[in-house]
Amino acid sequence: MEKIVILTGAGISAESGLGTFRDEGGLWAQHRIEDVATPEGFARNPALVHGFYNARRMQAGGADPNAAHTALARLQRDWPGEVVIVTQNVDNLHEAGGATRVIHMHGTLSGALCASCEHRWTAPAEMSVGEPCPACRAATARPDIVWFGEMPYHMDQIYDHLAQAGIFAAIGTSGQVYPAAAFVHEAIAAGAQTVELNLEPSVGASSFDQTLLGPATQIVPRWVDDLLGRR
Ligand SMILES: [Zn+2]
Repeated sequence: MEKIVILTGAGISAESGLGTFRDEGGLWAQHRIEDVATPEGFARNPALVHGFYNARRMQAGGADPNAAHTALARLQRDWPGEVVIVTQNVDNLHEAGGATRVIHMHGTLSGALCASCEHRWTAPAEMSVGEPCPACRAATARPDIVWFGEMPYHMDQIYDHLAQAGIFAAIGTSGQVYPAAAFVHEAIAAGAQTVELNLEPSVGASSFDQTLLGPATQIVPRWVDDLLGRR
């Protein structure tokens, strides 16, 4: 049975109340991206960056998975082939919705990373400057989040999955952030059918065979029903 590779972005978590850096209002609107989502920003003002991610961690901790998350978990459970979810999101709503196979290419809010020795551990609810790494004791703990200018995680594994994809879906992504925006071309090269599911067409919408427009909680469950009905 065809392997399905799904890329998800902020649009799938929006209806769970988690805003993105493109939204007006909310957490991101109070900060500049270069201050809170770059390694240089962290070097300049680690307290500000920890404060920002502490707030995002708290917000994500209070969010519930929505019908789009649970529909993808159902697809993973019921599709006879492999279903891989690659997400740009740093929340854990796919897992909370029952998904078992999720690749977090931009890290997670639940993780802490030592900038000195690359040791990883579960982040406390509140991270703070000067907190020692449990492995090397250096006071260089940072959120385990991939910032702008940093290489996303698990790229080799993701490209391997794309090379085997029979179906590729991009859900709730802007199509503006690379390398994720180029995944569709990898999938096309592999001969996959491609579909975009989005509130409005992304800048790369014309690359896809099919575009389904609407709120994720409506169009994702419908798409999953169609796929499972088709087999
Ligand atoms: Zn360390």
